[in-house]
Amino acid sequence: MHDRQRGRAEPNTMIDDTNDATTPGPSVLIIEDDRNLTRVCATTLEAAGYRVLEAATGQSAIQEIRTRNPDIILLDLGLPDVDGVSLVPQIRSHTAAPIIVVSGREQDADKVKALDAGANDYLVKSFSIPELLARIRVGLRHRAHVGDTASTVVTFGEYRFEIEARRLLRGDRPVHLSATEFKLLAVLASRADQLVPTEVLLKETWGSAYKRKGGYVRVYMFALRHKLEKDPAKPRFLLNEGHRGYCLKTATTSREDQPASTTRLRRSAA
Ligand code: CA
Repeated sequence: MHDRQRGRAEPNTMIDDTNDATTPGPSVLIIEDDRNLTRVCATTLEAAGYRVLEAATGQSAIQEIRTRNPDIILLDLGLPDVDGVSLVPQIRSHTAAPIIVVSGREQDADKVKALDAGANDYLVKSFSIPELLARIRVGLRHRAHVGDTASTVVTFGEYRFEIEARRLLRGDRPVHLSATEFKLLAVLASRADQLVPTEVLLKETWGSAYKRKGGYVRVYMFALRHKLEKDPAKPRFLLNEGHRGYCLKTATTSREDQPASTTRLRRSAA
């Protein structure tokens, strides 16, 4: 686990908000034991607006994934402590984030095995920087389309949430979201109008190490409601069913003409 000074990914602390006008960029985990290659990739990615996490071993990679939940993963197949191919199913047990395998020429057969095991794409070492950036964009775009809604734009009330562009607009004005708020809202938006269990929100927003930290969801939902709802105590969009789960309601109706199917979702702050 090597946090970089610049572009340091947001820690999983309760306080992460900044006064930045924009939503922080997606996080990329570089799993690579070659320090020079890591440095080049990290510098490039940070310059392109990504937040960079690094792991030089398979063990630290799993730890980073469990506690940081990166948006996309670059996986070198030749690691010192574990075979990169065998790491793919382990990564998959924690996250659905796209995995781009980075292989040396001599690992070409492993590259196919890694794709079979659940990796999404591969790059052969000596790849160019534009190629790396293009593959990451494709991976993230693919991920934005994954989920129950095919759309990457979800509208609710006066809001337009552009998941792929990482942007929330109220009318034509952008609303700043912290990286965690963005992720939480994106998980809800990918299953709009459905109750998303608290455990799913925790795993997909924070990582599998946080499955039992229900308080995190409550704190961030409180923050999101204060940003998005006119009356946070009587939310129109961010509903909950006790602490069991939450729902982003896109077709808002007044309390009176609320459809029967949604009445079980309480319109009160959790
Ligand atoms: Ca290596």
